[in-house]
Amino acid sequence: METTENTLSNGLRLIVLPDASNPQRPWTTGAITLNVGFLCPSVMPGIPHLVEHCCGDELNELLVTTFGGHMTDNTVTHKDTTTYGFEFPTGCCEEALKLVMGRIFGPNPTAEQVSSAIDKITGEFEYRSRNMSAEDARRRICEVMSGRAYCEGTAESLGSQQSSEGRCQLLKTMANVESFVFNYHRPGRAALVLRTSCAYSS
Ligand SMILES: [Zn+2]
Repeated sequence: METTENTLSNGLRLIVLPDASNPQRPWTTGAITLNVGFLCPSVMPGIPHLVEHCCGDELNELLVTTFGGHMTDNTVTHKDTTTYGFEFPTGCCEEALKLVMGRIFGPNPTAEQVSSAIDKITGEFEYRSRNMSAEDARRRICEVMSGRAYCEGTAESLGSQQSSEGRCQLLKTMANVESFVFNYHRPGRAALVLRTSCAYSS
């Protein structure tokens, strides 16, 4: 069995690595890599990471509950690329891939997903810099996500979405998320690498 490379009709590059060591291995591992990251010009710096959490966290939950699979640690936003890693039982390969692609190339994240992604990222900031308070972490996120201009005097706004300032901030963030998803979450800008014994076809 050899590695195969194809471009699907929707433009997605598909690379399948045969599971040569054990054709009966019941698990498929894979990753979708998008050709965009947090340092790409014309991308609002915090948005790729935010969207990664909107899609990746939901996908993880769905993979766990529906197929007994999960997203892997290599789900990560880099400078120039964003990768979603996953694994699931090969028996569910086709359905699980449909789910993954439907989420990554599918509808815009909802306001609820964006809010909960903001909470997740706040936690990551706090964890990475142990001395940073939750308030400072939110202030930092607000700056990188939406640009300083939006943020003057609204440092806590993302944390208090009940306030009109908070709602306004969230709407601006949502607009950034939507234009990012529209421009970059496209199959034609991505590659899917699979290691599987399942003969996947588009
Ligand atoms: Zn993260």
